[in-house]
Amino acid sequence: MSSFPTRKIRKILVANRGEIALRVMRSAREMGIKTVAVYSQADRLAPHVKAADQAVCVGAPPSSESYLRIEKIIEAAQQTGADAIHPGYGFLSENATFARAVEAAGLIFIGPSAEAIEVMGSKLAAKNAVSAYDIPMVPGTKGAVTDLLTAKKEAAQIGYPILIKASAGGGGKGMRIVETEADFEAQMQRAVSEAISAFGDGSVFIEKYITSPRHIEIQVLGDKLGNVVYLFERECSVQRRHQKVVEEAPSPVVSPQMRKAMGQAAVSVAKACNYYGAGTVEFVVDEKLNFYFLEMNTRLQVEHPVTEMITGVDLVKEQIRIAEGNALPFQQDDLKIEGHAMEVRVYAEDPANNFLPNIGKVEHYKIPQGIGVRVDDGFEAGMQVPIFYDPMIAKLITYAPTRQEAIERMVRAIDEYEISGIETTLPFCKFVMQHQAFQSGAFDTKFVERYFKPEYLSKGLEKEAQTELEKVAALVALMLFENPQEDSTAATLPQTAKGSNWKKRSWK
Ligand code: ADP
Ligand code: ADP
Ligand code: MG
Repeated sequence: MSSFPTRKIRKILVANRGEIALRVMRSAREMGIKTVAVYSQADRLAPHVKAADQAVCVGAPPSSESYLRIEKIIEAAQQTGADAIHPGYGFLSENATFARAVEAAGLIFIGPSAEAIEVMGSKLAAKNAVSAYDIPMVPGTKGAVTDLLTAKKEAAQIGYPILIKASAGGGGKGMRIVETEADFEAQMQRAVSEAISAFGDGSVFIEKYITSPRHIEIQVLGDKLGNVVYLFERECSVQRRHQKVVEEAPSPVVSPQMRKAMGQAAVSVAKACNYYGAGTVEFVVDEKLNFYFLEMNTRLQVEHPVTEMITGVDLVKEQIRIAEGNALPFQQDDLKIEGHAMEVRVYAEDPANNFLPNIGKVEHYKIPQGIGVRVDDGFEAGMQVPIFYDPMIAKLITYAPTRQEAIERMVRAIDEYEISGIETTLPFCKFVMQHQAFQSGAFDTKFVERYFKPEYLSKGLEKEAQTELEKVAALVALMLFENPQEDSTAATLPQTAKGSNWKKRSWK
């Protein structure tokens, strides 16, 4: 392929906070690149500020007055002599206007082109862009639906249950499941007004609701010369309110053939928008293991570490090298999966109390250590967790030769993790790890609503009782997942929790 002018990056401004800002700075440092932090007044003493070579305050605590201020952030980069900006995830990472402004200021945006962000930022435009390729998509409306009567007709054709989705939606927000036609009008009206208030864009469309869905996504990397590879899948089916809480790689249900088919589809999606940088192509998978394109996230993903563990690739370093204009250092056949990685998101939320945000001062904080444990966090003891931002305070990742060992290691690491002063989702994550359905691999995105009850934690009982019957049911369900033609209700496991076999709470 033809050559592309390269430009060495010497100083990166990281336009983010928390664990992801630290994550980016670590790779930069290893590459001999200097770093600049930006921070709001609430984050003056935050670890990402201390970790950087330089730091610039960009405003008041609310994101709209600091981390989202495009001119202020570009000005900070220019003042400090940074030559590139890494946006992390969230905040401005999927903002095409920002990417454009960065490049217009003569700086390198460490991410894809503004055009790719724009196309993939709209779920409808994205579907349209990939329609020329042979990529399976969930049955649904071609464009936005506006007229109620037409929409109702289209919904009936697609067949209930359906999902009304905001085209501009993200972060699990702006989605409504409609079970029957009788509910359609009310839900449609709610979906539109929610889309307007949350995303400033009332366009909604309709998709068939996959009833036993798994969320499986493919990591891709592309360079500016047009090469694109996939770095296999991540399984993210344990979700709460359409948001991921546990992720792993590889998926317990993806066969080598399916992996290849999904990987090639993801590469086609990336090529459809001339993608370069790191990106993620998300798919929803039905109980027969058919996969359908959902959307593409044009940034580094929260759960990227599990891919790093199983491939040995530092995704942030690759992002930086790609931004400099270098060709990818590997081809598809050079990439291999080794071992199994598990990640849990640690939120400052109280799982025993409906996951209400639990913000306060972290009194005592000690992270787990030892073989196969990685903690990506963004705060320390004595620090107040600010109310202004996403409540995710850390990611705990374990790596082992097999899935079972990665799970056992995760339970051990959760037990070792000491946080006091605030409630976190760690006990809930332990519950997931120890649940038979999770361990067997037979679960879908309804795992939490199907199996979890807050009382389990308030009683200090993460490990749920499992009758012999349930164990058998879970095994049968797994076999059906792998051999789905036999029964379409495969993933619905019986659930009869009993209080006899509970394990004592060991998490402090
Ligand atoms: P990922 O897609 O990387 O698995 P999330 O969906 O949780 O993870 O989103 C990553 C981050 O981006 C989170 O901090 C979330 O709050 C934020 N985010 C995602 N979409 C949006 C959006 N449309 N508007 C604002 N923040 C968003
Ligand atoms: P977001 O931008 O909020 O991440 P996605 O389209 O990626 O929106 O969907 C988020 C989650 O919602 C998915 O991970 C999946 O659990 C669920 N979901 C989305 N579309 C469907 C569908 N058609 N059927 C079933 N579940 C879906
Ligand atoms: Mg998504």
